[in-house]
Amino acid sequence: MTTTIPLEVVLAAGHRPLDLNNVFVSDPDAPGLVREAERVGYPRTACAWIKGIYALLRRHRVDQVVMVTEGDCSQTHAMMETLRDEGLVLVPFAYPYDRDRERLRHELEKLLRHFGVTWEDAEEIRRELVPLRRKVAQLDAMTWQQGTVTGWENHLYQVSCSDFQGDPSLFGAQVEALLGVARERGARPWRLRVGFVGVPPVYTDLYSFLEEREVLVAYNEVQRQFTMADSLDCDLLEQYARYTYPYDVFGRLADIGREVKRRRLDGVIHYVQAFCFRQIQDQLIRRRVACPVLTLEGDSPGPLEARNRLRLEAFLETLDSRRRVAG
Ligand code: SF4
Repeated sequence: MTTTIPLEVVLAAGHRPLDLNNVFVSDPDAPGLVREAERVGYPRTACAWIKGIYALLRRHRVDQVVMVTEGDCSQTHAMMETLRDEGLVLVPFAYPYDRDRERLRHELEKLLRHFGVTWEDAEEIRRELVPLRRKVAQLDAMTWQQGTVTGWENHLYQVSCSDFQGDPSLFGAQVEALLGVARERGARPWRLRVGFVGVPPVYTDLYSFLEEREVLVAYNEVQRQFTMADSLDCDLLEQYARYTYPYDVFGRLADIGREVKRRRLDGVIHYVQAFCFRQIQDQLIRRRVACPVLTLEGDSPGPLEARNRLRLEAFLETLDSRRRVAG
């Protein structure tokens, strides 16, 4: 999948869902994948995620990909078209921009037909996944309420809910193990609490950079959306209608506003990917979020560059001063 889709349908059909973003960013040769796409003809000014996923699909000779045609981005469309020309079969899925339930139902029905499963089959999987989703929500609560699950762990386990690493049972065992370890940990003293909003970062060391400076990432916006923690009691249709990421930015802003307050965040890091259309939404996030916001732009996979390390240091100092003034 090029982004999160109703993976209950894929699981009901007996397949292993794989979110290509997760596969790309955890590939030890992620920078090499980006360069490979550029050698084939992808422009320097295309998003690194797009180039990485393109090269990954070519290397691994994948036959079929569920591609989100509405609710993701136009660079994905163009990337999939280049792969279609090379023989890849595309399965389209669209999140209607206005969250129209009837259109979403129609899209889900198309997906069910494609995979040869029924609503009831997919609903059964949804019900089976609720306890696992609840446990991941518990990990999230342990981050912002007790500080015993780190921001990196919070990121990793929540982002993994976009595909459950292809195997919900195995992933569930890992979640259970982390819950056990975290329950035994004492809470660390955190100097500041920040939120991370925007697409997951291409950087490999952002969370460790913050943790080394005793900064707790107490909120991972899009990653938390993958857990569907706000719709555990809803049916499949409503679950994917409430999921904020593929729809307009205002649903995201309401979610961010609520969590900034609830989690008592000192500041927010808005991560934007170089050449991504979502950078245009940065002005709305800066205007509407009720705490200091740092916009951090990343391009290639790898460690933070010196410039962004300096910008982060300066931002943390500003947050420290605000804390001191507030007493
Ligand atoms: S970061 Fe932006 S441009 Fe890149 S794949 Fe995601 S939505 Fe598309």
